[in-house]
Amino acid sequence: MSSVPTSPASNTAAVNSAARATTQAAVQPATQSAAPESAHPAGTLAGVGTTEPERWQRQLATAIRSRDTLLQRLGLAGHPQLVALSATEKNGGHAADAFGTLVPESFVRRMVPGDACDPLLRQVLPDPAEQAVVDGFVSDPVGDAAARAAQGVLHKYQGRVLLITTGACAVHCRYCFRRNYPYHAEPKRLADWQPALDYIAASTDISEVILSGGDPLTLTDDRLGELCRAIDGIAHVQRIRFHTRLPIVLPARVTDELLACLLSLRVQPIMVVHANHGQEIQADCREALQRLVRSGVVTLNQAVLLAGINDTVDAQVELSENLINIGVMPYYLHQLDRVTGAAHFETDSDLGLQLVDAMAERLPGYAVPKLVKEVAGAHSKTPVEKLAR
Ligand code: SF4
Repeated sequence: MSSVPTSPASNTAAVNSAARATTQAAVQPATQSAAPESAHPAGTLAGVGTTEPERWQRQLATAIRSRDTLLQRLGLAGHPQLVALSATEKNGGHAADAFGTLVPESFVRRMVPGDACDPLLRQVLPDPAEQAVVDGFVSDPVGDAAARAAQGVLHKYQGRVLLITTGACAVHCRYCFRRNYPYHAEPKRLADWQPALDYIAASTDISEVILSGGDPLTLTDDRLGELCRAIDGIAHVQRIRFHTRLPIVLPARVTDELLACLLSLRVQPIMVVHANHGQEIQADCREALQRLVRSGVVTLNQAVLLAGINDTVDAQVELSENLINIGVMPYYLHQLDRVTGAAHFETDSDLGLQLVDAMAERLPGYAVPKLVKEVAGAHSKTPVEKLAR
């Protein structure tokens, strides 16, 4: 068993990228069709109106979509490591083109200029290592395709369903397990959601609906509110859970209108945000999370264990402390999902257990996340401890 690192090792080898910048129109514009007001029976969708773009939408529209621009912004254009790797990219092309650079300015402001090993930068900077073909790394590592119960519906676990609300995100995380998901096959317009709502209404054991994607908070308040109200109208649903990275990478999304929408629901809203490093919980992100918590929305964090980014005790303790200090509870620490192109983020198999053991010595129990792995076909997230037995 290897010793548990307590502070970041050199990330030099991991920052090995000089891929060409690409632009991808993966962020679907937050527009919506105008539709007449209508009666809104339980479990059905009414129409929504058209509004001017909000501040968060304007910030999303101006997010950085070029690797070169990102590096220039951080004073890293011409960095020796990155220059050296340009030749690699020229020789081999770059597989990340289909999942291009996308990072909002707020997130960039939390990176350290001039640091090629910055843990936030590493999460979003396309890397030639994404081209590597590695045994065991596949396009659908968590069995999403096999769990598709209806258009837009993944039904894996008893009592819960997950809706693929959109393919859009506010950031492109290089380790994303859904980077190859066929979003084009899922509902686009509000009316397209009716079969999913019918499925939930007919499945009386479903008490929790998880809005995922992509990122559900890229939907406009009108569209998100409409979907939530339709779900809220299904009597046996008791909770709506939002899996989102927007409060972390685009904190302006936590608007008064969003909070009002969440708090107007009959069901309990639960926000599961996704931060991987304590450095993310700063400034406007910290304020946005506090607004969620202080408004009464249960807010949890899930992180992914990533080599060279948060694979030390110090990094994990800092993340947990920064979260609990503002009332966000550490929920899950995920072992990396083995998606094609993410092999360079994988840690030693026993490292996660060592880290949570070491965290337990430094933190109160409630601040230590559960270390889990999503195993395709399993009926719940699997504790890594159980896999190790
Ligand atoms: S925000 Fe979530 S869904 Fe979007 S790229 Fe990142 S990990 Fe994937």
